[in-house]
Amino acid sequence: MRAGPRGRLIWITLGWLGAVMLLGVGVWLFPVEGQGPRGGVLALEAASGVNASPMDCAALEQRAIDRDWPLVRREAPAAGWSRQPLAVAVWGLPTLSAAVRQGDLLTCGTLRDARQRDPRFTAGVGAVLHPAAGSMDAVEVRVAPSYSMLWPAVVHIGDPVDALRADRLRWMLRTGVVAALLVLLASTLLAFGSTRPGSLMVFMAATTGFLVWSLEISALAGYPQRWLAPQGLHFLLVVALPLPIVAGFAHSLLIQANVERHHALAERFSLGFLLASLLTLPLLAVLPRTAIANSVAAIEILLLIVAMVLLVCAVTIWRNRRDAITLALAVVPFALVTIGSLAGSSTVQLWKIELVLLCGAWLAIVSHLVAARRQSRVNRDLELMKHLASTDDLTGLPNRRAVLAALDVEFARARSRGDEAGLPIAVLDLDHFKRINDSLGHPIGDRCLVHFARSVQPLIRRGDMIGRTGGEEFVLLLPGASLEEAARILAKIRQTLAHSADIGGHPIALHFSAGLTDAASHPNPETALQVADRLLYRAKDEGRERIVCDQLLPDSLTSGPQAMPTQRA
Ligand code: GH3
Ligand code: MG
Ligand code: MG
Repeated sequence: MRAGPRGRLIWITLGWLGAVMLLGVGVWLFPVEGQGPRGGVLALEAASGVNASPMDCAALEQRAIDRDWPLVRREAPAAGWSRQPLAVAVWGLPTLSAAVRQGDLLTCGTLRDARQRDPRFTAGVGAVLHPAAGSMDAVEVRVAPSYSMLWPAVVHIGDPVDALRADRLRWMLRTGVVAALLVLLASTLLAFGSTRPGSLMVFMAATTGFLVWSLEISALAGYPQRWLAPQGLHFLLVVALPLPIVAGFAHSLLIQANVERHHALAERFSLGFLLASLLTLPLLAVLPRTAIANSVAAIEILLLIVAMVLLVCAVTIWRNRRDAITLALAVVPFALVTIGSLAGSSTVQLWKIELVLLCGAWLAIVSHLVAARRQSRVNRDLELMKHLASTDDLTGLPNRRAVLAALDVEFARARSRGDEAGLPIAVLDLDHFKRINDSLGHPIGDRCLVHFARSVQPLIRRGDMIGRTGGEEFVLLLPGASLEEAARILAKIRQTLAHSADIGGHPIALHFSAGLTDAASHPNPETALQVADRLLYRAKDEGRERIVCDQLLPDSLTSGPQAMPTQRA
């Protein structure tokens, strides 16, 4: 069932109003972080020569002090710092900038531009400090406040090996997700060829959106320097894209998993949500930045609601186990991470970016698999329909439509090959078939037709075609054969059928008349068929059990044995 335009509009409006209300709830529940020590930075506990950075670190540090950026301090041990190197690494959203001071040593970096960081750190801003032996100065890390408590910056102060290992792992996970998305997009483009249904287009758009979002959120868009979009767009892309992306995945998942067949409401919800999320984009563009930052939590709540709706859908289509399980599998990791994040789980916060990227990639992969499965089902149905549309269901032979199509193809081919290639066509009609029906009954008549089809098939060459064009009328196409060869094959068929066969307990011999002509010698396939038909009528007029050809052929091939025993009860 599909919603009419008015119903759809109501759903979209409701969805949009809901989204705006949830944005409001989010702003109220999660106020923008104020001044002073606060969330937004997650300090990790652990234990000089600092890389030169092209940034003006003193100015950055001054700005951090003036604006009271979150500060993570690590005091020197009681005996002062030893000569051991000490790594500071900060991971977070790509708007992150950090200034690191230890005594007189000062370094800094920003994720927006890899040229302005220590190149040993790829996923975050980091530095390896070498505090002077015995120095009592604390390590101070000032980090630009994250625009959401749900996406805190993670500060690691400790062993350089640990810091670099964690940095490498994060980098691999991020690039891995991007690579997986690229492969998915390419394979979707290739695998579905030219038949791309709407839901698949939605899936591809969502995957592309997620790819852009992944590049932004993982700071890969700033590596080695900003390349994807102007810096000013970053914030908007990161905040605005998740809704349409998840809505797109949800919509294509619901359609591909056939949920909409059971729940028209689910389809309306997902479509309404998708359109509403697209309508919300311009809203985000005009809202002040702080208001958008506040809405991050609301967006996560919305995404969680979408995940829950998908899970409910999975439960309601439980009868279709496979679809239901795939749907649930696609959504559960995403739902868990969102719940963990909203509940303030520190593990989730520590790996938030990587976890969200992995869950999104998982969602995309499962959507792709579901779409591929559905596509193969559609292809199979299509093949079956094609087969049914071109097959005669009694005899299993090609039907009239298929024979005429083949005649067209072979006619064009014969023409293109030149004069020497013949295309004999014969129209065959069983003689006195009505008598069999009348005396033995229609079912036996049917079995005679099947017997005819089975007897002829082994006698014709590969590439020849016999099709049933009417009640007891058949057409034989013999591409590339001469008329004499065709007549010889027809004679063989006549001989074979003239021997009585046991059909439903009755010994029955079948006879037929045929009109034979070379289709290639006629101006078009239709004329060829008409001529063959006319020749068939001549054969009937001349006494049946014979072949009439419009060219001279040996009598032995065309005239029928006069006294073939035929069961005519
Ligand atoms: P002729 O030698 O002039 O062709 O005589 P005929 O009896 O074969 O021709 P006619 O056109 O008078 O009758 C054809 C018969 O074929 C009539 C019809 O009952 C029978 N027929 C057509 N289709 C089927 C079918 O699918 N099953 C059966 N059992 N009979 C069929
Ligand atoms: Mg007949
Ligand atoms: Mg007939």
